[in-house]
Amino acid sequence: MIPLREIISYLEGLAPKALQESYDNSGLQVGDPGMDITGILVALDVSEEVMLEAEKLGFNLVLSHHPVIFGGLKSLTGRSAPERIVKLAIQKDIAIYSGHTNFDAISGGVNSALADRLGLVDQQILSPMSGGLLKIVVYVPHAQLEELRQAMFEAGAGKLGEYDSCSFNLEGSGTFRGGEGSQPFAGEAGVFHQEPETRLETIVPAHLRAKVVNAMCAAHPYEEVAYDIYSLENEDPRRGMGMIGRLEYPMDEEVFLGFLKDRFRASVVRHTSLLGKPVRKVAVCGGSGSFLLGKAKAKGADVFVTGDMKYHQFFEAEGQLVVMDIGHFESEQFTRELFYDLLMKKFPKFAVRLSETEQNPIKYF
Ligand SMILES: [Zn+2]
Repeated sequence: MIPLREIISYLEGLAPKALQESYDNSGLQVGDPGMDITGILVALDVSEEVMLEAEKLGFNLVLSHHPVIFGGLKSLTGRSAPERIVKLAIQKDIAIYSGHTNFDAISGGVNSALADRLGLVDQQILSPMSGGLLKIVVYVPHAQLEELRQAMFEAGAGKLGEYDSCSFNLEGSGTFRGGEGSQPFAGEAGVFHQEPETRLETIVPAHLRAKVVNAMCAAHPYEEVAYDIYSLENEDPRRGMGMIGRLEYPMDEEVFLGFLKDRFRASVVRHTSLLGKPVRKVAVCGGSGSFLLGKAKAKGADVFVTGDMKYHQFFEAEGQLVVMDIGHFESEQFTRELFYDLLMKKFPKFAVRLSETEQNPIKYF
């Protein structure tokens, strides 16, 4: 058995909850982080059938992509499906955890799974997130620099793409005079002091700010730590929505439509007019991706694969690319395999299964 807390901290280490959209409710839906987990059933959506399937297997955690508590619950009378599911979860002592838009927003997440399914190469985030990074600048005596820097790196500072331990260090001189009640690390209270210091600069993801600042203050020798935090406008190439990549070999549009149907076991693909040119660059967004159509056009995609497009949104393709709507469920179904693979990587011997009862609620006639 594994404590639920350990599973959550692994999942949120991969896709921090701070990355979720403002309307979302990712995270632990029902359950006590301290409980011991016997097995994990993975599903796209939680239903009563999925809960009973978990119970039958003797598993007490359901991991889903879509949160079961989304718009909030005002009662637990069992009138609606979410109410019944939550009631069932409490009665049967089965925890529910959902990794939703935070798993959409990471490379290696939902949209990577979609792009991988199409064999896209040179994958990049279609709409990289900005404003998720902070710069932190701190002044430290030379002798304590190494220890301070290390403490900050260990707390999550200094990561840039495939690099860690990134910082800039500039030697200079700091001045201060401690008041009567002070106990300065260098110099004497009440006496003006000049200390050789290093200005250490590094970056921190916004959600790790408190952790890094705490580690920094704990490792710094001064009573009053002088530091600055700046918001950065930089785009983070590893965080954001959608994915764009290239097919290894260009395909005719009709051939690509067939390939898409096959890869996603889709009964139907709703699409805009074909343009009579080969498909090379493909943009994707699992679920409802209409908000990324403009980005897909701007980045020169030949095709935009998504789900849940509305009638009027198809006009927005404007002959610049072909929109291909394979359906919400179809575009996100491999999120289950993604969760499974991620869990297996960390807990290789643990009981994890994909739901066999779950179905696409949309049927095609
Ligand atoms: Zn979805």
